[in-house]
Amino acid sequence: MAELLKGAPAAKALTEELLLRSQALSEKGITPALAIVRVGERPDDISYETGALKRCEKTGVAVRRFLLPEDAGIDEISKVICEINEDESIHGCLMFRPLKDKAAEAEACRLLDPAKDIDGMTDGSLAAVFKGSGAGYAPCTASAVMELIRHYGIELKGKKVVVVGRSLVIGKPVSMLLQKENATVTMCHSKTADLKAECRNADILVAAIGRAEMLDKDYIPEQGTVIDVGINVNADGKLCGDVRFEDAERAAAAVTPVPGGVGAVTTAVLCKHVIEAAEIKAAAKA
Ligand code: NDP
Repeated sequence: MAELLKGAPAAKALTEELLLRSQALSEKGITPALAIVRVGERPDDISYETGALKRCEKTGVAVRRFLLPEDAGIDEISKVICEINEDESIHGCLMFRPLKDKAAEAEACRLLDPAKDIDGMTDGSLAAVFKGSGAGYAPCTASAVMELIRHYGIELKGKKVVVVGRSLVIGKPVSMLLQKENATVTMCHSKTADLKAECRNADILVAAIGRAEMLDKDYIPEQGTVIDVGINVNADGKLCGDVRFEDAERAAAAVTPVPGGVGAVTTAVLCKHVIEAAEIKAAAKA
């Protein structure tokens, strides 16, 4: 049976470290603060927000919420982003995406101060991730994959990593982060010719597809590591990943559960990014 790579222990260890760091900031009179921008009432967003609020409380991060109606347009959303940019007490901004209004989303990503972009929204942050300069933040989910890998001491150097998915939120940035750690990364997608062979050939398989339990035994690398980023609902109405868990548990050496895997680390990473942004600002002022 595969080792279970649960997110909770990684999140707990990170939370403990972050609390110390936010206490150090607070001794200097600084409270790390996160702005949350939510447009509408999507259950997924609300559920993530609830988790984020709890994690912020545990790590000493203050939160200011900007809640907008579902029909909020480009002007209203832009105004909120400008307010966040100008507010000296706010160190990071999380805006739930995707927005229905694509033009408003693009404008928010363009307007946000890159120094407050703790979720890889702006071109500046993404460029930093792609350059490997370390000057910007990757989207929190992509960083959470790396945090989980670090926590469990999974070796990346020289390993064959297959990432299924090439979105700007997960697939592409996580591929860059993995490559920075000297993995040899193959990014697959819906047009990949022989996805089964690519996946089976991996030392580490990262699934970020959004298709319930699509990767079954034919895709699982024998004795490899399987990291399932997907969050879906299966035919029985249960939360599940992109990987058929039972198959991975049987064939792989290690696998993340869904729920309770990558998703459990994401809010801790969100707080890490906010605290880092506050530390950078404090150092620049000193
Ligand atoms: P997107 O829909 O933006 O991207 C999906 C990617 O999967 C695309 O690159 C697509 O390829 C690829 N894909 C789709 N179907 C197939 C297929 N049949 N074979 C191979 N590749 C395929 O999704 P996201 O990246 O935003 O999210 C991915 C998953 O991660 C979702 O389940 C989402 O719910 C979950 N998620 C989890 C989070 C967490 O905290 N754990 C946070 C955010 C998201 P192509 O480019 O060719 O279309």
